Amino acid sequence: MSGVTGSNGTSTTDGTVRGVLFDIDDTLVDTARAFAAGLAEAFGTLTELTPQAQADAVRIWRADAGGHYRRYVAGEVGIVEQRRARVLEITRHLGLDDLDDDGFAAWDEAYRAAFAASWALFDDAHACVAAAVDAGLAVGAVTNAPGEMQRAKIAAVGLADVLGSLVAVDTLGVGKPDPRVFHEGCRLIGTEPSATVYVGDELDVDALAAVEAGLRGVWLDRPGRRRGGPHAVSDERLAEARAAGVAVIASLRELPEVWGSART
Ligand SMILES: [Mg+2]
Repeated sequence: MSGVTGSNGTSTTDGTVRGVLFDIDDTLVDTARAFAAGLAEAFGTLTELTPQAQADAVRIWRADAGGHYRRYVAGEVGIVEQRRARVLEITRHLGLDDLDDDGFAAWDEAYRAAFAASWALFDDAHACVAAAVDAGLAVGAVTNAPGEMQRAKIAAVGLADVLGSLVAVDTLGVGKPDPRVFHEGCRLIGTEPSATVYVGDELDVDALAAVEAGLRGVWLDRPGRRRGGPHAVSDERLAEARAAGVAVIASLRELPEVWGSART
């Protein structure tokens, strides 16, 4: 992209990327795998799960057809409350009795311990973050999960030294797709939105929302990792997003091409 001159005659951008903001869950960290471990452990305390039942639990959890997590991000329900609502959908699918307060508390303890014990990076994540740092780019993260958990997660996967700049859902009290969280991420790493790449695994709340906030939005569409239910991406929706400026990659190995190509 060549340099752009604003209508007032001042240079607004030379097209160079100065920073990269990363989504965390299912972008850097294989959260779906950690969910599977947490759900298997917690539901395993209630019943003997068949492989099919385990797969169903993960599918229902990730699809979140009831929109409970998005209601949490919007500040409408608490994080434990949204988790309990999603557990209820799965217990009913599995034909189990609804959990009372004590039953849910025990479920939640088992879930959270197994979930946290399973945090790990995708095999392309560390090299991508390191490449950004080596390229002299400022890096940070913008996430729709609570800051305390995300800082623990970042530390657990060995990225605490480079991802200290974090905007979590409780930083401003709102989450993606609100443009303010992307702008706060840029402020923390000291870049203009137009000179900042944002990469995430959800087309709407990550890539398209980043573009709408003035960043360079990238959708990480990992093979076999799309979520179902209300998160399904139609061809038409994808075409609209591309037309709006969203770049699409299948692996974080492709991300350096995105920031590199913006320099020419
Ligand atoms: Mg994500």
